[in-house]
Amino acid sequence: MPSAEQTVTEISALFDRYGAEDYYGEPVTQLEHMLQSAVLAEKAGADAETVIAAFLHDIGHLLPSESAEDHMDDYGRVDHEKLGADWLRERGFSEKVAQLIEHHVNAKRYLTYKNPAYFARLSEASLKTLEFQGGPMTPEEAAEFERNPYFRGILQVRGWDEQAKETGLTLPGPERYLALCRAYLEK
Ligand code: FE
Repeated sequence: MPSAEQTVTEISALFDRYGAEDYYGEPVTQLEHMLQSAVLAEKAGADAETVIAAFLHDIGHLLPSESAEDHMDDYGRVDHEKLGADWLRERGFSEKVAQLIEHHVNAKRYLTYKNPAYFARLSEASLKTLEFQGGPMTPEEAAEFERNPYFRGILQVRGWDEQAKETGLTLPGPERYLALCRAYLEK
C-alpha cells in the first residue's frame, strides 16, 4: 500500500492535472466543487472522515480513464463513485470514507424516489446523469439503502455535493484538506 505521503502527493497531482476542468454542466471547476463540498462539511461540524469524503467524493472523475466508453456523454464517468471509493480503499481510507463516496449517487436515486420535491429541484445536468445511473430507486432498493450503517452521512455528503456549485466564493486551497488526509492516513 502506498504511504500517506505518496497518496497525498498522488491526490494533489490529480487536482493539478484535472482540477481546472469544468464540473459537468455546472458553473464551477472540479476543484472548486470539491473544495466547496469540504468547506460545507466542515461548517456543519462533520468529523474528519466525513470532511475527507466530501472533499474526495468525485475523485473518481479525476482518475485516468481506460476507455472512452465509460463516460456518460459529457457528464463524467459511469461508476465514478465506485472507482473513487475503491481507489481510496486501496490507499488505506476507511470503509466509512469509502461508503460515503460510493453511495453518493445512490443517495440521489434514493431521494428522487422518496421526495418528489427533490426530483423537481435537480439541476439539468443532474437529471441527465440520473438516467445513466439507473433512475429513481425502487421501494425495495430504498428500504435496503436505509439500512446502510452510514445512511445519514451518505445523505449529508449528497446534500453538500448539490450545494457546492456556487460561483465567486473565496475558498481555502486544497492544501488544507490534503493535510487533513495526511494526518488521517498517518494515524
Ligand atoms: Fe459532486
